[in-house]
Amino acid sequence: MTIQLVWFRNDLRLADHAALIAAAARGPVAALFVLDDETPGQFGSGWRTGAAQRWWLHHSLASLGRSIAARGGRLILRRGRAGPIVQALAGELGADVHTIMHHEPWALVQEDEAGAVTRHHGATLAPPASVLSGTGGRYRIFTPWWKRLLEQMPPPRPLPVPDVRWADVAGAASDDLDGWRLLPTAPDWAGGFSDWQPGEAGAAARVADFARRAARYDDTRNLPAVEGTSRLSPHLALGEISPNAAWHGIADAVGEAVAEPYLRELGWRDFGQNIIDQFPDHGDVPGREAFTRFPFRDDPDGFRAWCRGQTGYPIVDAGMRQLWATGWMHNRVRMIAASFLVKHQLIDWREGERWFWDCLVDADYGSNSLGWQWVMGSGVDSSPFNRIFAPVGQSVKFGAADYIRRWVPELAKLSDEAIHAPWEAGVALIRAGVKLGRDYPAPIVNHEAARARALAAFAAARGA
Ligand SMILES: Cc1cc2nc3c(=O)[nH]c(=O)nc-3n(C[C@H](O)[C@H](O)[C@H](O)COP(=O)(O)OP(=O)(O)OC[C@H]3O[C@@H](n4cnc5c(N)ncnc54)[C@H](O)[C@@H]3O)c2cc1C
Repeated sequence: MTIQLVWFRNDLRLADHAALIAAAARGPVAALFVLDDETPGQFGSGWRTGAAQRWWLHHSLASLGRSIAARGGRLILRRGRAGPIVQALAGELGADVHTIMHHEPWALVQEDEAGAVTRHHGATLAPPASVLSGTGGRYRIFTPWWKRLLEQMPPPRPLPVPDVRWADVAGAASDDLDGWRLLPTAPDWAGGFSDWQPGEAGAAARVADFARRAARYDDTRNLPAVEGTSRLSPHLALGEISPNAAWHGIADAVGEAVAEPYLRELGWRDFGQNIIDQFPDHGDVPGREAFTRFPFRDDPDGFRAWCRGQTGYPIVDAGMRQLWATGWMHNRVRMIAASFLVKHQLIDWREGERWFWDCLVDADYGSNSLGWQWVMGSGVDSSPFNRIFAPVGQSVKFGAADYIRRWVPELAKLSDEAIHAPWEAGVALIRAGVKLGRDYPAPIVNHEAARARALAAFAAARGA
């Protein structure tokens, strides 16, 4: 019988994997993953997998490899340009190829270059091109798109791991995962990543844990000091759980009506895929023309201060340090920190987007470009530019005091009231033994002046 080669990409799971299910039904199965930096590297400013996600990828591949080996198979690892490698291995094995469809522009090139490949749905709740308006057009705005998607929801229930007869591929060459050097060594900055459990079992454990808290999601999801969200994003980004399984896992636990705010967030992930499917260069090119002329500032020192969590705005610094230490940042704080960079500092959103890409374990081309263009106001569906987050107001409103204490320990002794704006804390600062400029930076910009400067920059871009 013809060997069925399953080409795994960012769908590193065995359950609810349409390509594996189809392959297993047709014949003996071989499994392949290709580490391809070349194809994504050729798009826009270059989108090879970033450093934090490489850490995750290492552990996820190790986990998938173990699961396949425990069932009697072998995960073949190859490195290089994916399309030709897949085609060559399929030729060598005389195999048919199956893969899950992905929507990043480089994923489409990989598929085209791989030759005859059967593509299966499974990276999103519904195929992006299936959510169409009454006149057959594509959506650019979330709310009408979401209403239309809901007509196809709930998604099909996730399917279990199929019975697989593994092909004998002992003769096929495979790289050694350690040899890929995906883990950091000198220095090993991933020490703070130990709370994560990459892999399919880790994803299932997250869903089970979050299912117990999901009923409180809507009340707590905006509070960075509370573990109110699922933290499923890196598992979804690498496809260790299907979006359908996440949907049903939470809807079954608390009922679809209570789960709605959570399911809508899963919808945002799909919406990002819908956007990059229509605008493949969304990671590099603003969705609105006026923003091609935006007068960004060239400010390497300011950018470095932002990356290192040294802006003097505690909520921004807490978020940037959480990102560096754990590879993840709370969504509310992502919005505040991103807005600070592009509006208070007037630094190009693409610089922040790239930093996130390199630091996030959940880096996802669709969600990341959507998030940055939304915050900038440059996306096809985005927040208006003149909606400028006030970092202190946001920090107070969303009760971030304990979150700041955790990530900016030099301010830990300040009271809940004083901690959001230490430059206004006066005597409390002295009592806490904190000297601004020595122990913690003074704010690098003044909020009101920065706000006025940002609005003037926008007016210039629009009027030019
Ligand atoms: C500037 C910026 C950049 C971002 N970059 C990324 C990124 O690279 N990768 C990424 O997965 N998310 C990104 N997000 C979206 C969001 O911050 C994360 O998905 C969320 O914080 C993940 O935490 P969670 O799993 O606990 O989310 P939950 O609140 O538990 O949500 C469940 C799932 O829904 C999806 N989701 C939630 N919010 C969003 C959103 N706003 N947009 C798209 N999907 C969403 C995620 O897959 C998430 O796991 C970005 C947001 C901003 C503002």
